[in-house]
Amino acid sequence: MEKKIAVIRGDGIGPEIVAEAIKVLDAVAAKYGHTFTYDEVDMGGVAIDKWGEPLPQAMLDKCLAADSVLLGAVGGPKWDGLPGAQRPEKGLLALRAGMGLYSNLRPAKLWPQLAEASPLKPSIVAQGIDFIVVRELIGGVYFGEHKTETINGQQVATDVMPYSEAEIERIGRIAFETARKRRKKVTSVDKANVLDTSRLWRAVMHRLAAEYPDVEYSDMLVDNTAMQIVKNPAQFDVVVTENMFGDILSDEASMITGSIGMIPSSSLGEGTRGLYEPIHGSAPDIAGQDKANPIGTILSAAMMLKYSFDMDEEAAAIEAAVHKVLDAGKRTGDSMAEGCSLVSCSEMGSAIAAAL
Ligand code: NAD
Repeated sequence: MEKKIAVIRGDGIGPEIVAEAIKVLDAVAAKYGHTFTYDEVDMGGVAIDKWGEPLPQAMLDKCLAADSVLLGAVGGPKWDGLPGAQRPEKGLLALRAGMGLYSNLRPAKLWPQLAEASPLKPSIVAQGIDFIVVRELIGGVYFGEHKTETINGQQVATDVMPYSEAEIERIGRIAFETARKRRKKVTSVDKANVLDTSRLWRAVMHRLAAEYPDVEYSDMLVDNTAMQIVKNPAQFDVVVTENMFGDILSDEASMITGSIGMIPSSSLGEGTRGLYEPIHGSAPDIAGQDKANPIGTILSAAMMLKYSFDMDEEAAAIEAAVHKVLDAGKRTGDSMAEGCSLVSCSEMGSAIAAAL
């Protein structure tokens, strides 16, 4: 197969981790006889410096012309002082909206080799952590109206959180369909005791639940979910929630699995073109030092093969290669443990490519 991949290296550790994912993709191409071509896209801080905006239209067009998009990370202290609309993160929001990516899937899975890195008690970890957070990605408060005005001499800021039935239903369907391929359990997270958007969310989810009688369904308030994720994570299979709650809960979920550097994500809309990126940021504190963990990005590339290119075997081969390298005790600094050997970002990428 021939596939064109738009590549956004981004800022901070972005270029380092993306280089390793490409190394692994090239190893897959060589082994399975595919051709992957890469189209470089500037987004984030690097685009602000070069083009004066975080995602120029020409760059979005490149992503829309590709079969899928691989992203490292964007942002950093250099651009923190810029006004909202010009910040690197705006590029990411514009990319998600421009590509119509309304669902974000983040697996929270404990790699047995890294069990000790989990901050949870061994008795909780022993029950297993293997769930997916399905987050609505282009609605809610991040995309509602934002304004700051002066009223009676005081500044007053307002952020609006809109949701339509259609927006809720399409993400709900993704959650139920995902659950059907897993352990058939959906937990829908909201704040229905306070928010109108949550009450509508719950009503739509209940309607959908009736269409999926084979899937066990429950509601959970977001504050309780935050507690349950650390108290009894084994109870979850598919957690579906709105944009901001999902942003926060998926970070919490990633933390309990050990290293933020290990977790991939996929964002999809209608059709097969998706955006694949690790869940972490640009890690400015270790940028340029060849220290970052590239596994989250490498596993994001594996998700791209599986979900956008229908290459299940190739994706499984990457996961098996990651297992092999972790079994051999190789670790980057973020997940280093006693008895293991410390490797750099590029050494980790090379080891995974070689294990393929
Ligand atoms: P971060 O995820 O970049 O870093 C948090 C901590 O985790 C840091 O100590 C970092 O060194 C470590 N870390 C993250 N990824 C790692 C990896 N692959 N290997 C080893 N260690 C890793 O979060 P932050 O510090 O809050 O944000 C830094 C910048 O990234 C900010 O400008 C933020 O806006 C941006 N950001 C971008 C994205 C994105 O591009 N999707 C997501 C979140 C944050």
